Amino acid sequence: MIQQPVNTPNSHTRPTTATIDLEALAVNFRKSREFMGRDLKYMAIVKADAYGHGAVDCSRRLETEGVDWFGVAMPEEGIELRRAGISRPILCLGSFWPGQEELILENGLTPVIFSEDPARRLNEFARGRGRITDIHVKLDTGMGRLGVRPEAVPDLIHLLRGLKNLRVSGLMTHFASAENPAEDDFTEHQITTFEQLCDGFIESGFKPEIIHLANSPGAVRHRRSQSGMVRLGGALWGLLDDILKDAPERPELTPVMSLTSRISDIKRVPKGETLGYGRTFTTNRDSLIASVPVGYADGYPRSLSNKGKVSIRGRKAPVVGRVSMDWTLIDVTDVTDAAVNDEVFLIGGYGTSAIKATDLAGLIGTIGYEITTRISSRVPRMYK
Ligand SMILES: *Cc1c(COP(=O)(O)O)cnc(C)c1O
Repeated sequence: MIQQPVNTPNSHTRPTTATIDLEALAVNFRKSREFMGRDLKYMAIVKADAYGHGAVDCSRRLETEGVDWFGVAMPEEGIELRRAGISRPILCLGSFWPGQEELILENGLTPVIFSEDPARRLNEFARGRGRITDIHVKLDTGMGRLGVRPEAVPDLIHLLRGLKNLRVSGLMTHFASAENPAEDDFTEHQITTFEQLCDGFIESGFKPEIIHLANSPGAVRHRRSQSGMVRLGGALWGLLDDILKDAPERPELTPVMSLTSRISDIKRVPKGETLGYGRTFTTNRDSLIASVPVGYADGYPRSLSNKGKVSIRGRKAPVVGRVSMDWTLIDVTDVTDAAVNDEVFLIGGYGTSAIKATDLAGLIGTIGYEITTRISSRVPRMYK
C-alpha cells in the first residue's frame, strides 16, 4: 500500500524517501512474541511518530497483527491514532497537561499518573461528566525520571482511594539500564521493588488488571520482567543491534526503515581540491564525487560529515566533506559505473553493503532510535 507519491526518477518529486517495510514490522512483532511468550500482552510503543516510521500506518498494521495496546508520549499522539481509527487501548506514557482532561475522556485515552495534582484534576473532570476513567499508575523503582517514589506510595494510595472517578487499571515501572549486563543486579532490584509496591496496592484493595515493566531490552534480557504486558519500541523497529549487541539470546529482528535518495550529479574532481563547507575534505586522488539531495534538514546528521557511509550499486561509499542542509557529497570513485540517478541507500540496502541506522549511530555516539526519530517530515514516508 503506497500512501505517498512514489519517487521514481520520472516522478516530479525530490527522490529522497523513507521506505517503511510493514511486513518486516509484522515479522519483528511475531518474532518478539515467539521469543517473549504468547501468554503476555503486548504494547507497541509508537511515540514520536513511531520512532520516525509513521505512527498511523504502523499502528494500523500492528493492530491487525494483534498488538493489545499502544503507547504514546502525549495525548496529541493518541488522538492522531484515534482519528485514524485505532480502537485498541492507548496509554499516554507522559500523562497529560492541564486542560487536556476532556481530550483524555473523549478519545478514550488512558493516562499514566505519577503525581497527585493530575489525578485530582482528572477525577474532578470525570465526576462532572458522571464517568469513571482508567489510569495506570507509574512507580519509580530506580529510573529517577517519571514515577512515584516508593516512600510516597502510601500517600498516593491514600489519595487514590478517595478519588472515586478514577480506576487504577494498571501499574507500571520503567527500567533504567535493562540492556546492560553490568547493571543486572540493579534491574533485578527494580523488579523486586516493583513487585513489593504492587502488593501494597493490591492489599489496599486495588485490582489492577495489567502490570507492566519491560521495555524492549528488559523483555529480551530479563525473564522476570516478562509478566503481564511488555512495552516494545526498539524491538518492533528492528533497532536493537547497538543497544543489545552483547545479548547472546535475542530475537532476530530486521530494520523497518530504509532511507534512500538518488545521485543528482557526478563530477570529476582532480587530486588536491577541497570539498564542501569549511573545506574539511581534500581529494587525495582524481575522484568522482556525487551530489545526493539529502542533508541535515532531512535528519541526516551533520555529525556524519567525513564519517558516514552509503550504499550504491551494492558497494559502500564514503560521505566526504560536510553534510549540508540539503546536500551530501559521496566519493563514488570506487563504485563501478556509478551514474546520475543511481539509487543511494543512506540507511538500508542489500547484503554486506547494507547500512544500518544503528551503525550510523555508532559512528556519532548515539543510538539508532535517535537516527530514525530525527528523519524529518520533509522526507516522505512510503509504505510497502
Ligand atoms: C519509550 C518507552 C518504552 C519503549 O522502549 P524501547 O526501548 O524502545 O522498547 C517503554 N516504556 C516506556 C515508559 C517508554 O517511555
